[in-house]
Amino acid sequence: MAVVKKVNAENGWHYISCTDCHEKAKTIGFTFWCEGCKKEFSSPTVRYRLELHVKDESGSTIFVVFDKEAEKIVCIPAKQVYTTEIKDEDDDEDVVPKPIKNLLEKIYMFQIKIHPNSIFTTKQNFTAIQVFEDHEYKQLQHEQEEKNQILSLKRAIDVDVEIE
Ligand SMILES: [Zn+2]
Repeated sequence: MAVVKKVNAENGWHYISCTDCHEKAKTIGFTFWCEGCKKEFSSPTVRYRLELHVKDESGSTIFVVFDKEAEKIVCIPAKQVYTTEIKDEDDDEDVVPKPIKNLLEKIYMFQIKIHPNSIFTTKQNFTAIQVFEDHEYKQLQHEQEEKNQILSLKRAIDVDVEIE
């Protein structure tokens, strides 16, 4: 479990992506271009890319949270945040919108992916593949415990059968 201490705004909080793939799209005037799909489109998909400075008892690090997992904790689709907040703030990408600032001081369980060679680098930047809220995580643990109990119960029954 880790507390969100800061939302890193240097790289913004979102990215404009292709409507067909998840690749970042290029802005060309009023339209957008996806290099991967080699296609131009006018209404892109806005996706979250949050860099969260988090802290737990062992230290602090940065977790990058993408799209659906970010939407789960912000509770608002990225597109909605984009259209209502960013336009109010003079298109300043450094500004972190209020719904995202709401994550500060909240506690989450981050499930991260560690690349095998990441222990050799000093880069403290992990991608969170799943983010759980406190109560959600407890629920998961509870379900896991129940499953384990059922398993051990089943084993106990099996043993009984063998003894007979
Ligand atoms: Zn594409």
